[in-house]
Amino acid sequence: MQNEKLLTFVQSMSQLLLSSPAESTILKEGAALLGTLVAADDWLPEMFTVPHPQHYQQYLLYADPLDRFSMVSFVWGPGQKTPVHDHMTWGLIGMLRGQEIDTHYFKHSDGGYRAGQPHTLKPGEVCSVSPDTHDVHVVSNYYADQSSISIHVYGGNIGRIKRHVFDPATGVPKDFISGYSNAVVPNLWN
Ligand code: FE
Repeated sequence: MQNEKLLTFVQSMSQLLLSSPAESTILKEGAALLGTLVAADDWLPEMFTVPHPQHYQQYLLYADPLDRFSMVSFVWGPGQKTPVHDHMTWGLIGMLRGQEIDTHYFKHSDGGYRAGQPHTLKPGEVCSVSPDTHDVHVVSNYYADQSSISIHVYGGNIGRIKRHVFDPATGVPKDFISGYSNAVVPNLWN
């Protein structure tokens, strides 16, 4: 029962990607689908909501067998944040529980990265990343005393994509592959 909404999203996203639409179409229509999914916080299985005391968790919820998209539950413990990083593919971020702060970073003429205006994502809201327009950012939990959860959808198998973290002062990139925190995924076929 609790996985019906997740299955519906996965089916709708698969349908959307069937015709290999332009990225702008994926971001627009995918954002609407993700917005519907995160409109109510009543479907994410408990085991994918558990924070880690030291670092944020990335629980894989679904990965398309053709690597067209993947879906992750991002769980922020109190005060946790990412380094400056990129994705190398489009991404959608839907806020499910709590709030997070998304800050885009922009390449400066001195080679480093500068922070743009921070944006607070509230429950039910969706934002995006895209290599074409805004792929480098920092995300942090809005709260210092409680966890937050957002649902991320990416245009590939994000846990296996080789991407980068950056030293914002120098702009020097370092390769990284994020992997996933979980050994099991939701059963959508029950
Ligand atoms: Fe990110």
